[in-house]
Amino acid sequence: MDRDNDKDDIDVIDKKEDTDKNSDSDEKSADTTDKNENSKDNGGRKNVKYEDICYLCHRPESRAGKIIKLPNNINICTDCMQNTFNHINSNGMNLFMDIPNMESIQNMYRNKQTIKKKEKHKEEKKEDGKEQEVPELTMKTLPAPHIIKAGLDEYVVGQKKAKKVLSVAVYNHYKRVLSNSDEDGVNIEKSNILMLGPTGSGKTHMVKTLADMLQVPLAITDATALTEAGYIGDDVESVISKLLAAADNDVEKAEHGIIFIDEIDKIAKKKNAHSRDVSGESVQQGLLKLLEGGDVEVPVGASSKNAMVPLCTVNTSNILFICGGAFPDITKIIAKRIKSTGSIGFGAEIGLNADDDADILDKVSTEDLREYGMIPEFLGRLPIICSLGALTEDMLVRVLVEPKNAIIKQYKKLLRLDEVELDFQDDALKIIAQKAVEKKIGARALRAILEEYMLDIMYEIPKDEMIGRVTITGDYIEGKGGPRIQLRGNY
Ligand code: ADP
Repeated sequence: MDRDNDKDDIDVIDKKEDTDKNSDSDEKSADTTDKNENSKDNGGRKNVKYEDICYLCHRPESRAGKIIKLPNNINICTDCMQNTFNHINSNGMNLFMDIPNMESIQNMYRNKQTIKKKEKHKEEKKEDGKEQEVPELTMKTLPAPHIIKAGLDEYVVGQKKAKKVLSVAVYNHYKRVLSNSDEDGVNIEKSNILMLGPTGSGKTHMVKTLADMLQVPLAITDATALTEAGYIGDDVESVISKLLAAADNDVEKAEHGIIFIDEIDKIAKKKNAHSRDVSGESVQQGLLKLLEGGDVEVPVGASSKNAMVPLCTVNTSNILFICGGAFPDITKIIAKRIKSTGSIGFGAEIGLNADDDADILDKVSTEDLREYGMIPEFLGRLPIICSLGALTEDMLVRVLVEPKNAIIKQYKKLLRLDEVELDFQDDALKIIAQKAVEKKIGARALRAILEEYMLDIMYEIPKDEMIGRVTITGDYIEGKGGPRIQLRGNY
């Protein structure tokens, strides 16, 4: 009964709309009056002919087009009927049993509407000129390698060689993408990158900085979450979905983006595996097609494929893949190789010092990576290898203060908003760096350590308006005293 009432209400509104539309034509308004009078003569609205409304999208016949009448007073427009058939075709007869559950089809309709709305919104934004603020990457705007490196220098401490390798690789990648000409028959091959380095040495940080600088969409994913299709975990294609989401579902933009797959060493082939290696070798096999470049069907606005989510095709040929991993213990494999090959001839000297060589990761070869468990086909698609070193105590001190968005600069800014100056004594910085080195998680430890000491300060300072300056001393970090507090005007 309620539904019938609702339907009547909608009919009345639509009728009113029609009457309004007709009001600008004299002839038509005369008709309407006649009709109204007729309906009065007939004792109310019961005899008035109302428009049919689509049960799924709620559009009246005048907007939705031809309406098909189904049993039980269900009317469906041709669009929704077509969507229903598409739905059945792509999901087989089992789902046909779900058809009476109209909610699922209504959801599908709503999904399509949301995408349309998003597209409209984007077009409006473009018209406003807001989107034009971001310079598009073209051959003219593409920065040269030395400029890319200078940009990285502002945010990343040390890692000179890695920054150089990355700058050249990224420059060449986008030159290949943007030039797009093979007139002379020479095709520049895709060069994805493999980054090796201990945790907290700046792998992710460097890639994020790069993507920001070039204004290209970036997706950061973790290889440990990936499994072979059909097993619990994310399919390899989910990495493309993430990139598409980062590009606001703009396929063209996503196709020029960067995907960073972290923890790549965790998908090394399992040694002595007796069962199917669904999260190791199979994932490497699954990633091959993406790294190489090909068309992938991905869901729009969701991370997994299902009946309700529309799919779109993304070509991965111009997507730059950067894989990163700590590869613990690979140094032993490198040292062993150097020792065995360097026992005679020129390499003899290197071989002798291999165990205590701090830059040993620089000497990594595909042979070592193969022994670690990466399959040759996978390594073949990551031709550029760059390694990062662990951050030393001095470098960690620099990480605290030098980068454009250094942690200490952030704390200073926070306190400046309370009109309080924050200073760190040199020995305080040194002790914080020493503590971070002990934790063996690189620069990641810095924030956690600082947070511990800054908590009380951030809590207490706003209480007293007289405080003008706080100095963090070495003694405070060592637990031998408190920070030095100075009142306004006393310094
Ligand atoms: P990982 O090498 O494990 O990917 P991250 O790049 O995530 O490490 O580093 C964690 C945090 O440490 C970053 O957000 C960044 O602030 C800081 N960091 C790490 N390395 C550097 C570096 N070389 N220069 C400046 N900051 C760094």
